[in-house]
Amino acid sequence: MTDVYGHLFQKVLYPSWESGLRRRPTLTHLAELERTQWASLDELNRIQEVELGKLLRHAYESTPYYRRCFDEMSAHPHDIRAVEDLAKLPLMTRDEATDTLDERTSLKPPLPDIRKMTSGTTGRPLTFAYDRGSEYWRQAAKLRGYGWAGYHPGDRTLHFWGSVASVQAQRARARVKQELDHLLRRETYVNCANLSEAALEQAVSKIRRVRPSIIVCYAQAGAALARYIVESKKRDWDDIVVISAAERLFPADRAVMTEAFGPGVFETYGSREVMLIAAECPSHEGLHVSMENLVVEVLVREDGGVRVAKPGELGEVVVTDLHNYGAPFIRYVNGDLAIALPDERCSCGRSLKRLAAIEGRVNDTLRDGAGRPVPGMFFAVLFSTLADKVRRFQVVQRKDRSIELKLVPGSAFDDSLLATVRTNCEKFLPGVDLRTEVVPDIPVPPSGKHRVIMVES
Ligand SMILES: [Zn+2]
Repeated sequence: MTDVYGHLFQKVLYPSWESGLRRRPTLTHLAELERTQWASLDELNRIQEVELGKLLRHAYESTPYYRRCFDEMSAHPHDIRAVEDLAKLPLMTRDEATDTLDERTSLKPPLPDIRKMTSGTTGRPLTFAYDRGSEYWRQAAKLRGYGWAGYHPGDRTLHFWGSVASVQAQRARARVKQELDHLLRRETYVNCANLSEAALEQAVSKIRRVRPSIIVCYAQAGAALARYIVESKKRDWDDIVVISAAERLFPADRAVMTEAFGPGVFETYGSREVMLIAAECPSHEGLHVSMENLVVEVLVREDGGVRVAKPGELGEVVVTDLHNYGAPFIRYVNGDLAIALPDERCSCGRSLKRLAAIEGRVNDTLRDGAGRPVPGMFFAVLFSTLADKVRRFQVVQRKDRSIELKLVPGSAFDDSLLATVRTNCEKFLPGVDLRTEVVPDIPVPPSGKHRVIMVES
């Protein structure tokens, strides 16, 4: 069936709105990104070097923080010639990013027009800022990345998403504007902060009514919805593309989403601070980094220093935002762990660097009784093999290392499951006191992000 509105929106309404009415350069950037995604790695590296040079000069000339950074090293931005030279600059942790916001804020245009906060689910909320120019690049990078999944502005889209708007209690006028915006774009929003059976049933009715071609969801919420659909045999639709965002997509979750919606499941990785960091292409061989907008390093701490992770090795994600001049983010350690892939062209033909997988957050690491680290992934892997028995779970490790495990039972749940869990915990987390609790539901915070592993520090 020809989607006349979708075509009209994409070809006429959206361009005139973005480029004309709002005079936004988003589409100019998008056209550029559509071209450079096919560039060689050499060309992409050159683009990064040019943009990095501009950013560092601006940061040095316009922010007290970076002026001091360079002065303390007796260095100047022109000492950073290649992306590898970034290693000469210090890393910035989340806490440092919070503490230095004022000092990192540009005193000369472009000034930061946009201020936001992270949700704080991972500790102290981080306030950050950026200029409008950076926003256009963010939007363009997101459109390109979502485009790999087949998304175009104007497509009938259902967002199973956390309601940040309601959390921040927007003014009514802004809300009306946003709703109109969603309507014109044919985007339906369903709040995923509620994952009760009644709420999941409502989401299914929405899918039946809206008949979206794309579902954009938080990974955990999308997986809960998919599990409900599969268990209660609700699927009566053709394939729907799923774009999973905001949280790590575990293999078992991808499998159940495939069953509920079809094979087009695309993982994306982003954060509020910089938006889309990487996204899966149709080859599904890792996530391509938005290299023209961000420099993404994967680093390993070793012997008191840091080095670049080898391909296949797990490391900390470090981001430099090439277009945020308002309050630059240079070598920001965002708290995520990822595995880098070798710099080889993907079978899709793109040379954009790739991340193999996002392995959750640094503070997802559990400790056994002797204090040895155990990846929080352990529980995800365990429950991925027991998906029909456990619908959702949540692990909290207290300061005394005891673990509280909550389980929402699936259709095939029985008491033997608890014994299986206990045996595995004794094996992989020796010396830890485990308390399990079977619950009808695990409340999701208003942000809609369901954290499966929480470690008290
Ligand atoms: Zn690819």
